[in-house]
Amino acid sequence: MHYLGIDVGGTSIKAGLVNEAGRVLESRRALTVADDLNGFLSALTELVRGFQKAAAIDAIGIGVPGLHSSRTHIIETSPNLPCLRRVNLEELLADQVHIRTISENDANAAAYAEFVCGAGVGLRHMAHLTIGTGLGSGFVLNGSLFTGASGYGGEFGHTVLNAGSARQNAGRLCGCGNHGCVEMFVSATGIVLTAEDMMREAPESLLHDLEWPLTSEKIYEVAVRGDAIAREVFKETARYLGIACANLINLLNLEMIIIGGGVMGAGDLLMNSAREIAQRHAFPSAYADCRIVQSKLWPDAGMIGAAMLARDR
Ligand SMILES: [Zn+2]
Repeated sequence: MHYLGIDVGGTSIKAGLVNEAGRVLESRRALTVADDLNGFLSALTELVRGFQKAAAIDAIGIGVPGLHSSRTHIIETSPNLPCLRRVNLEELLADQVHIRTISENDANAAAYAEFVCGAGVGLRHMAHLTIGTGLGSGFVLNGSLFTGASGYGGEFGHTVLNAGSARQNAGRLCGCGNHGCVEMFVSATGIVLTAEDMMREAPESLLHDLEWPLTSEKIYEVAVRGDAIAREVFKETARYLGIACANLINLLNLEMIIIGGGVMGAGDLLMNSAREIAQRHAFPSAYADCRIVQSKLWPDAGMIGAAMLARDR
């Protein structure tokens, strides 16, 4: 049996032909059309047809950023893809290609991949965090993917980590409209915001020599060159990541927190101190039961998870 896993991102769509065991046999990419549903759907259809020439596809899974209803299968809203507002994507695509199609939130799909064929195989309670532009998260609890009452659960990135003070400032404004979300501290976006805060008081930092706009990659390079402030930015990010992990450990008594995403290119600067901070803030016995590890399947986790959900649903 062969499944097609599709991971829809803000700039590109990745699709992979995946076998029964979750191994990617072949993958292709297309550009995301963000503001026109017909254009978006025809890019998707063309991708699928490309694979259909090579192999018989038993089912398709699509991972989409945004709120996906488990009741109606409609994507209620997708902040970076305005054309997907209130759209039943699985029905639209199935009508075009005549293959059974399911859809799921992309971060949930990535968590499912690590659970069935990645770092979390054999576990029953785990979280998966994708640290990229934002912070995606998905949870497997009691051995199954947890999506909440209507499919919108697991949005840990949009829980509040630092609400600021009501009198002075309300905390960093998040894309979701809330202030002080975890994602505003633990993400590429958060790293840039933290750098901007710290640079103001450190005119000697090499960060001032960087070309604007700042990116987390540029800040990482300066940190590797030994700039104290850039290193401090990653230390602070690791501190927030560690606190976020401790919150998850105390709330859910997880066996594992798996971390992937583009920012984990700086993994060595983040992971060790994040573990230390998590240990400091979590209940010792709950911390002792939980391992915090790097993803096995990134950057393919979303694609593989979508295919595995198509296999299992
Ligand atoms: Zn938010």
